[in-house]
Amino acid sequence: MDKEYKVGSIVVMKKDHPCGTNEWEVIRTGADIKIKCINCGRTIMMPRIEFNKKLKKVSKF
Ligand SMILES: [Zn+2]
Repeated sequence: MDKEYKVGSIVVMKKDHPCGTNEWEVIRTGADIKIKCINCGRTIMMPRIEFNKKLKKVSKF
């Protein structure tokens, strides 16, 4: 089952970003999910299936 998130949600990924945080803001949803590191501002995009696998939890819906 998919966890629920939307643009603007803050999500926690299973793996920490090298900058020291693992919290990301969802900035685009669809077939691909784009997230932005809330610490360093780096953005990454990945297929929804991969995102759902790497997602640990939604900390703010
Ligand atoms: Zn970062």
